[in-house]
Amino acid sequence: MKYRTAVRRKSEPIADPRKILIVEDSRTFAKALRKLLTDETELSVVTCASLNELHEVVTEEPEAYGIAVVDLNLPDAPDGEAIDFTVQRGIPTIVFTGSFDVETRSRIMARDVIDYVLKNNEFALDTLVTAVKRALANRETRILVVDDMTAARKHLARTLAIQQYSVIEAGSGAEALSLLAANPDIQLVVCDYNMPDMDGYVLTRKIRRLLAPDKVRVIGISSTTDLAVSAGFLKAGANDFISRPFMPEELQCRIANNADTLAQLKQLQDLASRDYLTGLFNRRHFFENGPKLVTTVQARPSSAVAILDVDHFKQLNDTHGHDVGDQLLERVARCLRDSVEGTGNLLARLGGEEFVILFPGMAPADAMRFCDHIRLDISHAALQVGAETISVTASIGVAMVDPADSFDHCLRAADRALYAAKQQGRNRVCLEGA
Ligand code: GH3
Ligand code: MG
Ligand code: MG
Repeated sequence: MKYRTAVRRKSEPIADPRKILIVEDSRTFAKALRKLLTDETELSVVTCASLNELHEVVTEEPEAYGIAVVDLNLPDAPDGEAIDFTVQRGIPTIVFTGSFDVETRSRIMARDVIDYVLKNNEFALDTLVTAVKRALANRETRILVVDDMTAARKHLARTLAIQQYSVIEAGSGAEALSLLAANPDIQLVVCDYNMPDMDGYVLTRKIRRLLAPDKVRVIGISSTTDLAVSAGFLKAGANDFISRPFMPEELQCRIANNADTLAQLKQLQDLASRDYLTGLFNRRHFFENGPKLVTTVQARPSSAVAILDVDHFKQLNDTHGHDVGDQLLERVARCLRDSVEGTGNLLARLGGEEFVILFPGMAPADAMRFCDHIRLDISHAALQVGAETISVTASIGVAMVDPADSFDHCLRAADRALYAAKQQGRNRVCLEGA
């Protein structure tokens, strides 16, 4: 894939640039883990083999570490003292351990760690790397916790914060709705059933009226023994339900599953709105979003639209082959993206060798000047194929977008201007009606 998708890929920078700390006495394990973490996160990784070394490293650079991966048992720290140290220093910690039983689990979880991973199987390293990546990604997942009971709300918020989520709290349904409106980056709502102003079902239905499950996931939570409550939440539009009391591991898995689903849905939507060859938006995205963009700037004097068509492209395909044609289309797309990205204008590939740019709130004369720069960029952008240098030109038709007219009508006007540009000799920009 040539473009950004909703799901973070390996190559995307992680927001927190601090280092990862590994505390492990087995050199082999530490070395393998260090390599995997460096490759997968591109963050710096520091290793230490004992509690003593850990003291030295952290004292030297107390703020340097964004996350620690700590062995439960070290020769000079047989009882998890290294974990106490990292947690007390405010370094979010993931524990790994060779031995595991109910008592060990309680000992680990009592220490406010993000998660624990067992060392005793062939997947241990991968699981550990996944846990680190998830914890780092969690910081960008915003969760709204809604509960009128302060103690229960704080407990849930704290559990989620330990798992590195970015948490906001609401003490009532009404507050939850206004926080959702003010914070469009909220991805998950964990919502209690019993609340005085509106119960969890009513709040879920109100949220669903505003935000579909591909925008916000809702998880109901309740300490009731009434089995109907979980069904009630799901029927009201919630995606999941957690029964109180819960183990932090269950909460973590349910939240992570929902966050993953959301990311996958965003990725699918992104794929559906992009052109496969160039990674630009496609025709469908353009026609779905263009009209809205124009009406939102209706207060401004006018908007403009431009259609760009590569000149003599059929001939180029015939001479050099379809693959070279494709490469040139990608080259043209790059010129367009470099000029248009970040300007608030909407760029798309309409199909074939035809592209479109919508300029909301821009006068046609300004759009023409903008397009003339693009035209020049394209004519100067050459493609090296073997010993040969190939370049193309493009013709562009610009028209005014009058919100009173239909969107299709305005595009037909731009098409007429494009036809005029072709008629007048190509490699030029023409304005409809000029
Ligand atoms: P004009 O200057 O009048 O625009 O002439 P033209 O040859 O560019 O226009 P025409 O519409 O006759 O030909 C367009 C060509 O673009 C025909 C088609 O094979 C080619 N084409 C369409 N889509 C693609 C594509 O995705 N890749 C490649 N390589 N060629 C494509
Ligand atoms: Mg064409
Ligand atoms: Mg053409």
